[in-house]
Amino acid sequence: MIKTLISIGLWGVLGWALGAWLGAGIGWATFSFGLILMILVSGMQLSRISRWVKDIEAPPPPSVGPWDEILAPIYRKLRHNRQEIDALDEHVNGIMLAAEALPDGAITLDQAMQLTWCNQTASEHVGLNLESDRNHSIFNILRAPEFARYARQTEWPAPILLHLNTDGQDRALLVQLTRYGLDQYLVVTRDVTQMEKLETTRKDFVANVSHELRTPLTVLSGFLETLRDMPEGSLSSEQKQHYQALMLEQAQRMQAIVADLLTLSTLESSPNTEGEPVQVAQLVQTALAQGRILSNDQHIFVENVDENLCVIGVETELASAVSNLLTNAIRYTPKDGTITVSWYITEAGQACYSVQDTGIGIASQDIPRLTERFYRVDRGRSRATGGTGLGLAITKHVAMRHNAELTIHSRFGAGSLFSVIFPPSRVARID
Ligand code: ADP
Repeated sequence: MIKTLISIGLWGVLGWALGAWLGAGIGWATFSFGLILMILVSGMQLSRISRWVKDIEAPPPPSVGPWDEILAPIYRKLRHNRQEIDALDEHVNGIMLAAEALPDGAITLDQAMQLTWCNQTASEHVGLNLESDRNHSIFNILRAPEFARYARQTEWPAPILLHLNTDGQDRALLVQLTRYGLDQYLVVTRDVTQMEKLETTRKDFVANVSHELRTPLTVLSGFLETLRDMPEGSLSSEQKQHYQALMLEQAQRMQAIVADLLTLSTLESSPNTEGEPVQVAQLVQTALAQGRILSNDQHIFVENVDENLCVIGVETELASAVSNLLTNAIRYTPKDGTITVSWYITEAGQACYSVQDTGIGIASQDIPRLTERFYRVDRGRSRATGGTGLGLAITKHVAMRHNAELTIHSRFGAGSLFSVIFPPSRVARID
């Protein structure tokens, strides 16, 4: 303002001086010219400002006369606000990224329980699409009557377990509802399908162990009660021996089950160790010596063993895998059958232990289940030959701990081929 007055004053003084020298007309003309010039300059400055207002993010135009003092603080304030907005944006983005990275699903709902936002995990858990489901009621998205009942409670102290089928996949979800802010809601979903499966396996396992031990225990206590209730001297010594042999058989069966369970539990709980070179040929010889006793000369044994081939691993574990496969071949191959034991290196540099028999074979639908604990194709035959139903579960575990693979090829009635194939990284040689 002062600058403008000074300019008008200066033009007035110039007009007055020229008027005094060259005449009043020239003086007024100069003064008028000065005022018009000032108006024109001011108009140009205003038009530059109005252009800047349209692109307010850019710095204000330079040298706009008296407007400089007004524009500078406005621009400073604008820049400060913009920096704050950027920082806030970054913060919000960070929170959104963190919410996306959550291993749990997160869904936000408004007062009417309509979807406002969800992360990717929640989309997968519940099968929703943020774009098309936004502003739709959660009850139309999560169509489970248990959830509707749960959501209509006033408090949600604990989560609810839902079984959903999303995109053709069965899922067990723990769903927790929480109120936040001004009557808004957060739904957290956690996939517990795997945990539920493990829990079922654990329960089945405990039930199986109890069942397996109950049978021999019942037989054993039955015999003991009979012996207790028999009058003194009513049993001949042969009968006594017969009873004792039967009781011993049941006790040995329980012992075998407990021993295999302990082996499994040791395999599961002990850390994986690299081990050292193990001469598998020697393990095969020991297993064959025991196998011949079990076979009682009823089978033909063929050996095809590379004496110098070793595998890096744990000897006790490998010994149990080697003998389990051989014992099974003997137990499930009728008299005069042939059992071929091989230990060799493949063209791909893997070490392979295989046992082939000409025995009863296995139907294709049973093969995938053989390594399950206590799974037996023929329960009676397994028991009669002293099986525990845990041998292949142990063998598979040993294979896994040695980065090896247990493969089973079999045809019902036409014999089987069980192989444990070790990767080249586990192979060693002795000369
Ligand atoms: P088991 O102690 O009952 O032999 P395993 O885990 O060693 O338990 O084997 C599981 C089941 O696999 C056996 O009950 C049997 O039905 C089948 N099986 C294993 N090996 C053979 C084989 N060589 N020939 C036929 N069936 C076999």
